[in-house]
Amino acid sequence: MRSLSALELLNIWEWGHNQPSWSKAMRLLTTACPEVSVDMLTQLSIGQRDAMLLTLREWTFGSQLASQTTCPNCGEPLELNFNVADVRMVSPQLEPVEKFSLSLAEYQVSFRLPNSLDMMAIATHKQPETAQQLLLERCILAAAHNSENLSLHQLPSHMIDAVMAEMTRIDPQANVPLDTSCPACSHEWQLVFDIVSYFWSEINAWAYRILRDVHTLAAAYGWRESDILTMSPRRRQLYLEMVVNR
Ligand SMILES: [Zn+2]
Repeated sequence: MRSLSALELLNIWEWGHNQPSWSKAMRLLTTACPEVSVDMLTQLSIGQRDAMLLTLREWTFGSQLASQTTCPNCGEPLELNFNVADVRMVSPQLEPVEKFSLSLAEYQVSFRLPNSLDMMAIATHKQPETAQQLLLERCILAAAHNSENLSLHQLPSHMIDAVMAEMTRIDPQANVPLDTSCPACSHEWQLVFDIVSYFWSEINAWAYRILRDVHTLAAAYGWRESDILTMSPRRRQLYLEMVVNR
């Protein structure tokens, strides 16, 4: 994996308008990892995908993260500041697809972890229950009770819950809790950190900023967009200051 250039990031941003989350994530990774096949990337577990996206985000915008939220107890608006290390559960690595199994009492289930192909398959289902059912149908490979094969519908709900808990345990980066507390009322709760939506909203804000800078420099000097984008941020910033201060 390598970092993305300003031009690549801007192209991804332009393309990603109205794209679903899984698709944005995949486009970022396929651009940053030209040495890895698209098949391999789409079959990464969501946690592995997100571990790579977190690294890419760190290379793009640094290791500090900031977010706004509102205290669910007293309504106080809060600014959250945290670090990549706070939301890093595993190191990024390209792992082959694995099968897992879970045995509880007389039940046995074999399953795999959800990946981007699963996210694509469930993306059109707006009802969370339908989407979750479809996800389980795709990821549960076999189920049995006392060695007798069962369909997903025959599995008791406590077994389904246990499989989902096991998926979260094995793939912790897919579900990152962020401990939060309110300085006004001391209420404590957990947010879920979603690297795809977080990174995308930053890319969006960055794109507006850089297009404004391109506009200012192109209007002042007549330079081409591609030349302005390939400048180092420092050089671009100095030219901008000269335009503003002249
Ligand atoms: Zn509060």
